[in-house]
This record gives sequence, C-alpha cells and structure tokens, in this order.
Amino acid sequence: MTDKARVVDYQGVLDYIAEAVRPQFGKGRVADYIPALADVDARKFGMAVRLVDGTLYTVGDGLERFSVQSISKLFVLELAMQHFGDMVWTRVGKEPSGDRFNSMMRLEHERGIPRNPFINPGALATLDLVMGLKGDTRHRLRNYLRFLAVDETVDSNATVARSELDHAHTNRALAHLMKAYGNIDNDVEDLMETYCFQCAMEMNCAELATAALPLAGGGYSSLHDTAVISKNQARRINSVMLTCGMYDSVGSFAYRVGLPAKSGVGGGILAVAPGRMTICVWSPELDAFGNSYVGTAALELFTSMTGVSVF
Ligand code: GLN
Repeated sequence: MTDKARVVDYQGVLDYIAEAVRPQFGKGRVADYIPALADVDARKFGMAVRLVDGTLYTVGDGLERFSVQSISKLFVLELAMQHFGDMVWTRVGKEPSGDRFNSMMRLEHERGIPRNPFINPGALATLDLVMGLKGDTRHRLRNYLRFLAVDETVDSNATVARSELDHAHTNRALAHLMKAYGNIDNDVEDLMETYCFQCAMEMNCAELATAALPLAGGGYSSLHDTAVISKNQARRINSVMLTCGMYDSVGSFAYRVGLPAKSGVGGGILAVAPGRMTICVWSPELDAFGNSYVGTAALELFTSMTGVSVF
C-alpha cells in the first residue's frame, strides 16, 4: 500500500517509539575503544524520518549531532562510485563478512581484498581510491557531507579524530596488510588521518536522513534538486547495505527490521526504504556486534508499526 493510500501518523509513531524503548536503556554498552566516544550520555535517544517529498519528522534528540563513525562509509562509497564506477569492485568485494567490522582474519585469506566497503578494511580501500582524486580529500569529504545534509556547518570533531588516531592500531594493521598486497596506494599514516577525520564527522538524525534521501529516490532527491547518484548506483548501494551494512548481525537485522541500513559505533543507524523514506536513529549503547542496541529495537518497532519494509 502506498503512503497516499494509507495516511500514516509518522509523528505519532515516533512519539510512541521514544517512550516504548525506554526499558531497553542499560542493556548495551557505549563504545570506549575510542576514548573520546565514551564521554557521550548513554541515555540519548533521537530519531528522524524524511519522506521522499522532503517532509521531516523528528523525536527526542533527533536534532543533536553525534559522531557518525561508520555511517560515513556509505557516503565515501558514493563518492568512489561517482568517480570510479565499477572499478571500485576491483578493490573491494560485495559479500557479507560474517566477522567483526575490524577483523583481520579474512583479509589474509582473501589476499588483501576486503569482503565489502562497509567493514573497516573495505572502507579504507574505498577511501584510498577517493584520495587518488585531485585536491584535499578532507575538504572533499566535508563539502560532500555539507551538500548532502544541506547544512554548511557540518564538520569533523578534531578531539574524536585525534582520540581514534591515537588508538587506531587495528586499523593501521589492516591498512598495512592491504598495502603489502598492493591494495593501498597512499601512505598508511595519511590514510589513517583521513579515515579518522571521516569517522569523526558529526551530524544529527535529521541531517543523516536528508543525506541518504537520494538512496530512497533512485538517486534523485527533492531536497538536493538534482540527481546526486545514478538510479543504478542507488539500487546497488542499497543492495550492499542490505547484505553488509550491519556487520555480522546483518541477517538478524534484516529479519527484525527489513531495510537496508548502515550503522556506526557512535550509536547511529541510517536506514533506507526505497521509493518512500529514510529513517535515522541514534542511541549510543551498542550490542555485541557494534550496532546500536536501542536503535535496532526502535527501527524494528517502526517497521512493525508502519509496515515500511523492502520485503
Ligand atoms: N572509526 C571506527 C573504527 O574504525 C568506526 C567503526 C564503526 O563505526 N563500526 O573503528
């Protein structure tokens, strides 16, 4: 049934969810392997829904910015696909990994070609491609996110970036292993600094929902008034999100929520309902897989209550 045929009170649904998830607080854990992330208030909860016509609904802390972390991998993949097309898939695969987001295990077996662009080694390979473009990559990333969020104040948090850089031993090891296999062109330290800058970008749920709108609109977005990516690219990115966006819990997430989505250890989850809307939720406590505990529960409630799903 289309949204026209059935008028859904999205604001009512969000208000209900914000109350209903309260008993779930305290069951997950805020990420602390990046020390600066551990300072965030664990009880924050925000959500935003952006319909393809541009209508926005928010609840709770939906307008407060947080560390987007791995959600940024989605937008770096868009940049890579805009500039390099299918060449991206010679550097990174499109299969679910079944391992943690920063696991080294498969990388050696698969000779430095990461399983997909959403686990850390895959994101490093994708960023390495984008760094091959002319100009300052950090400016390019920031400008792209400002354009997508339709907000010129979107920026990276230098304290969070520094904190991650000081503790990025696993990511450095992943990058060095890939470089040994010839799958990283740039200097590893430059790559790490740019990656930490990328992950430390801060946006709120409404801005992230806006930024993903082209993925819901076949590449086009009413808010950007232009085709941001091609229809084909939007379809392909949504498929990779559905199968790889939630790391090694992607199967249970598809079962519970039924939407392509990308999570980050800052506690954000950004989901796309193609042709209909984008939904972003933020709650900092994570489950054992590094995905927002309450955020997953909130999205499950949202899709159960509204019937919005790709299945
Ligand atoms: N910056 C984080 C890291 O590389 C991002 C991980 C995530 O959000 N899953 O560990």
